[in-house]
Amino acid sequence: MRLQLSARVSKAHLERTVRSLAEIPTRHTLSGAMGADAAAAWLERELRGYGGNLQVAQQRWVQAAGGRMTKAVEIGNVLATLPGTDSPERVIVVSGHYDSRVTDVLDARSPAPGANDDASGVSVVLECARLMAGMRPRCTVIFAAVTGEEQSLLGSAQLAKTLKEQGKTVVAMATYDIVGNSVSQEGKRDNKHIRVFSTSDELNELPTQATRRKALGTDGDSPARTLARAIADAARRQVKGISVALTLRNDRYGRGGDHSSFLAAGFPAAVRFTEPGEDWRHQHQDLRTENGVKLGDLPEFVDFAYLNRVTQVALAWLSELALAPPAPARATLKQDLSNATTLTWAPVEGAAGYELLWRRTTEFDWSGSKAIAGATTQAALPLSKDDYLFAVRAVGPKGERGLPTVVGR
Ligand SMILES: [Zn+2]
Repeated sequence: MRLQLSARVSKAHLERTVRSLAEIPTRHTLSGAMGADAAAAWLERELRGYGGNLQVAQQRWVQAAGGRMTKAVEIGNVLATLPGTDSPERVIVVSGHYDSRVTDVLDARSPAPGANDDASGVSVVLECARLMAGMRPRCTVIFAAVTGEEQSLLGSAQLAKTLKEQGKTVVAMATYDIVGNSVSQEGKRDNKHIRVFSTSDELNELPTQATRRKALGTDGDSPARTLARAIADAARRQVKGISVALTLRNDRYGRGGDHSSFLAAGFPAAVRFTEPGEDWRHQHQDLRTENGVKLGDLPEFVDFAYLNRVTQVALAWLSELALAPPAPARATLKQDLSNATTLTWAPVEGAAGYELLWRRTTEFDWSGSKAIAGATTQAALPLSKDDYLFAVRAVGPKGERGLPTVVGR
């Protein structure tokens, strides 16, 4: 499926977003009117300007004092929502955090341009919103610029909690955080990959599901990993010049991000995007020069051509999942004494066909697939159920692939 939206990503627009946000002296969560609030107002105006079917609003609340909040402050997320036409209760969330920080996480006054962490992620979210504004997706899409990430994931936690209270099902959530730098601290250049981190966490799992997972060896098929594989697949089919590097770990070693708020709220299909090689001289640093090295998270250290490709990946999977039919409610296999495998799945409304996916139990990404045309909901494969993992996904009339349902989950 090619929506061609990826081809319309504007590097100039991404750069404008990053520079506009970095120009605000600080976007620290405790910085108030001239800082974080000014950034939120700018983001709201910007998103409103995209028009189309976007519903733009700030979600504001008073965050109590405690932890990394030295006082109670009214703070806010900036949200642009594309309402779903078929199943609005199914929600996809894509986020970046607009707050920034320097060396001292409580320093709300020093200049904190936060160009890569995380104006880069916010620019991806805004560009997706701009290019998808005219779309009428099957499910609801929320483009979120969240606050308070550096003060302990406050904005994403608030958003996840609200969606839970509203009874929504977040079928996919991805945070773009530190996605604009292509040269690592050690000087290694990689502008051809974007990492996607996914957890094995089974936070929502019922005891019966756990029993099945342990018995059938589907440990590597958590909802987060199923989403991560779908993202990698959409990128392979739709985008050239960059590919998704799957990392089967919730986040970088010992660190965290906004997707964790969704996992904690009981939305298990949540992943994180981050560049392949970070440079900590340009993250969370007071602006200064030390031994001839310029420190600070400045726009000059963002590779906008790379950020452009990362945004193409974002549009590829996001626009496809937004238009695709939902995942089959269940997919099972016939437990017969045969070295072949017969799969059966629940029909999906709006599906023009289905696609079977498989991989060996030792592989981490799908390595085989077969298209099934029409309304058939059963198919046999000459592969042993002992040696392979299987999944089924619905395909829309234009070839849009939905999220897979893994057999044995
Ligand atoms: Zn960040």
